[in-house]
Amino acid sequence: MIDDFEARGKRKKLVAELRKKGITDEEVLRAIDAVPRHLFMDPAFLIHAYVDKAFPISSGQTISQPYTVAVQSSLLKVKKRDKILEIGTGSGYQAAVLAELGAKVYTIERFRELYLKAQHTLSGLGYSVDFFYGDGHAGKPQYGPFDGIIITAAIKEIPETLLHQLKTGGKLVAPVGGSDLQVMTLVVRDGEDSFKYSDHGSFVFVPMLKGTVNDN
Ligand code: SAH
Repeated sequence: MIDDFEARGKRKKLVAELRKKGITDEEVLRAIDAVPRHLFMDPAFLIHAYVDKAFPISSGQTISQPYTVAVQSSLLKVKKRDKILEIGTGSGYQAAVLAELGAKVYTIERFRELYLKAQHTLSGLGYSVDFFYGDGHAGKPQYGPFDGIIITAAIKEIPETLLHQLKTGGKLVAPVGGSDLQVMTLVVRDGEDSFKYSDHGSFVFVPMLKGTVNDN
């Protein structure tokens, strides 16, 4: 797959913009600098690949805004070899950023077409991520417990079953709220039945929905 001088230059500018917007985690900035976002875009929006906005992808979904990816990745405080579960693979861009940070990534998507495409994109880039086609509400207990769980679709309430797939000290980050606006919520499991919640700004995501769609 092709990356080039021009795309690399645009990524440097994007990273500078993210710094200005308050992203300070150097590892996350390095990962965003390393992952060629243009290869995750729908061809119709290719020229906007390094604009700090969300854009449409297949199946009526979106590739997250780089700022949002940076915020969620920073909140997870990923360490090398951390086991991270992502719910909402979409384009696979967020999964690639987590893999670039050295995480062992498990990612679930409910649209079969996106699940197949993201697999193709990431393997082309040499990232080794475990992909699942399914409804992420139940998580992946057989692969847990996880150091981190990241939900990249809007959810009204965080399912208990996901919180219980965290290790002690593990973190879950999710946009919680209705369809118009969600609050980025960080939950840290600090004991068997002890969970600490904190809020980290407002965001807009596509909704987390039930079931799967076999559109390919
Ligand atoms: N992380 C993505 C952003 C994807 S948008 C990226 O970097 O591009 C949110 C994604 O969550 C969509 O692809 C949507 O289909 C998926 N999704 C919504 N509900 C889901 C569920 N219950 N299980 C798994 N994926 C879900």
